[in-house]
Amino acid sequence: MKRDFSAVKRIVIKVGTSSLTYPNGKLNLHRIDRLSRDLCDLENQGKEVVLVSSGAIAAGVNRLHLPKKPDYVSGRQAMACVGQSALMEIYNKCFADYGYNAGQLLLTKVVFDNPEMKQNFQNTIDEMMHYNVIPVINENDSISVDEIKLGDNDNLSSLVARLVNADLLILLSDIDGVYDKDPKEHDDAKLISTVTDLENGVKCEANAKASLLGTGGIYTKITACTNAAKAGIDAVVANSQNLNVIYDILEGQKVGTYFVGAKK
Ligand code: ADP
Repeated sequence: MKRDFSAVKRIVIKVGTSSLTYPNGKLNLHRIDRLSRDLCDLENQGKEVVLVSSGAIAAGVNRLHLPKKPDYVSGRQAMACVGQSALMEIYNKCFADYGYNAGQLLLTKVVFDNPEMKQNFQNTIDEMMHYNVIPVINENDSISVDEIKLGDNDNLSSLVARLVNADLLILLSDIDGVYDKDPKEHDDAKLISTVTDLENGVKCEANAKASLLGTGGIYTKITACTNAAKAGIDAVVANSQNLNVIYDILEGQKVGTYFVGAKK
């Protein structure tokens, strides 16, 4: 199926922890800088970008020079506090190099369950767009308990895309897209290029556990993209290892897995 994203204006881009870190857990500054440059360049083109960024805990672990993330909740929440501000420092530094500013929004499920908060969120995003500020969104991990947890940023980015009426949702991961089975375990796994049948879902075998650094795994990406597409938003899962990936997608190249948005 031909992909035409030439009319896309508002884009929500989600980047996972595995894209922001090296396998040793350290931050991949090269990729963060390139991602930031691309977001700013898209703003220069007149597009409106929203970044949903994971990586706070990993950034906190880096800042405090710990060998690995704590294996208890309050420890991880403390890492998220340290890491979220560290990550924002890096994004702001990178954006500033290209003439832009970041604006941070930390959300929980409560926001999406409450009409007034939802409205406030939409107004704030619109206002940030007005000032060409790039919203950087994450779940408020430091105070989230199970009851108010969204759980993963794939879901969060899909909810955000729907709330801000995005034209396109891009989920960047460490994998080329959705395969019929986990390509890290099966050499013969085949990439699913396009998903049009949103009702019957994607037929794939997935390793239920997420990667060591990531949290969601591929199922959460499939659900996030399916829900966005059902709401009429085109969605693509693609590999951040290709530094040009955002441009490739916007040019309509056949990269990643494309969930075709239902006709509005
Ligand atoms: P992120 O940190 O980017 O959110 P995750 O590590 O949570 O990413 O999820 C992506 C991982 O899901 C891939 O690296 C891959 O090993 C695994 N995976 C399992 N099954 C599949 C599948 N059918 N297609 C693609 N990836 C899969």
